[in-house]
Amino acid sequence: MTHYRVAVLGNGPVGILAALCAARQGHGPVLLLAADPPASVDAEGGGYRIEAVPVSLLALLLEYGIHPHLIGAGQTHAVRQIQWDSKASMSLPTPRTVHIHRPALEQALWQKLLQQPRIHLHLGEQSLQLHDAGAHGADSDHGDNWHADLLIDASGRAARTASSIDKSPQPWVARLFTLAGNTRPSGSFQSHFHSHFKLAALPEGYVYSLATPEVQNVVFVGRGKAVKGSAEELQQLLQSTQADWVLQGLPQLTEFHSGMAHPVSLQWATSERSVLIGDAALARDILSSQGLSCGLSEALCVAEMGTPQARANFQQRQTQQRQLHATALLNQIRSCLYGMETAWQDYAQFIMRART
Ligand SMILES: Cc1cc2nc3c(=O)[nH]c(=O)nc-3n(C[C@H](O)[C@H](O)[C@H](O)COP(=O)(O)OP(=O)(O)OC[C@H]3O[C@@H](n4cnc5c(N)ncnc54)[C@H](O)[C@@H]3O)c2cc1C
Repeated sequence: MTHYRVAVLGNGPVGILAALCAARQGHGPVLLLAADPPASVDAEGGGYRIEAVPVSLLALLLEYGIHPHLIGAGQTHAVRQIQWDSKASMSLPTPRTVHIHRPALEQALWQKLLQQPRIHLHLGEQSLQLHDAGAHGADSDHGDNWHADLLIDASGRAARTASSIDKSPQPWVARLFTLAGNTRPSGSFQSHFHSHFKLAALPEGYVYSLATPEVQNVVFVGRGKAVKGSAEELQQLLQSTQADWVLQGLPQLTEFHSGMAHPVSLQWATSERSVLIGDAALARDILSSQGLSCGLSEALCVAEMGTPQARANFQQRQTQQRQLHATALLNQIRSCLYGMETAWQDYAQFIMRART
């Protein structure tokens, strides 16, 4: 039986950073339980998701040996172009952000993890049991039984060890359209791409676009007509709502790679016997562009969770964060041009529960 002070479940960015952070504390080895290694990006740029994060996150990643160029970070942005409370689009100042290639971040963190001898990796389907004093499990591949004093659950929206999960009965999803520079005729792509963030409200959701010099993303979020239908139908939806400026200067949506839909609406979970972090605890609506940076900040807190009191304080802060996020979302819905439409009102009803 191998004993660990900390075991981390989940190898998304938050779980990996939590394991790296715990290993740095030097209190013996750390166990990371992972389903699969991160997938690589296909040549067409499918799944090549770009995420907007605060510039300060680059300093944190650099501290863990991840250079901005490894994750596609280039230009920083202080302005967003938004069509939200009326049909007029306007440029608004925003705290400085940078756009990063999400799969590249996962790969970079994964490489750091593999170089850290204090992290023991168990890959594959994980069997584990929680009890009041931590967790135990068995790795069938290595025949290794283990016990950990503390289980950190960073399994994302799966929230594998949660005792309760609250999610909208009609979750909103994101449909990602991607265009990678290497799939366009040489030299023609960079001038097309809109690097700054553009956002427009729709009757059943919203659409946004953002880019790096190599990749352009157009993302439709919501339910019903906001996410269903062909590229032509979605382009028509933007025309009929006067939101087609989001695509102005870009190739037709039919030229983009259309990806799978991901759930992106608010979700939260609780657990009595493990500590949930990142999306496992609170999956924020992507409208806030905060999920990644807030989750990575929580990963840095694993070092402080040695006592039940410290864990209770951490969970109390998470509840406050959830309430603040819900209030900010409700304010955004109230100011939205389409806020009284059924899809938005249904979502607002659900979000209100997150404030209690
Ligand atoms: C389309 C889209 C756009 C987004 N844009 C932004 C943005 O611009 N800015 C921003 O800040 N955030 C953005 N987000 C949110 C951000 O991606 C998440 O907040 C972030 O991924 C949370 O990381 P995580 O590690 O907590 O969870 P995840 O990234 O979901 O990782 C969870 C990991 O746990 C693993 N796992 C699950 N179950 C098990 C199990 N039983 N055993 C072992 N492993 C398991 C999974 O395989 C996965 O690797 C976006 C999300 C989406 C979907």
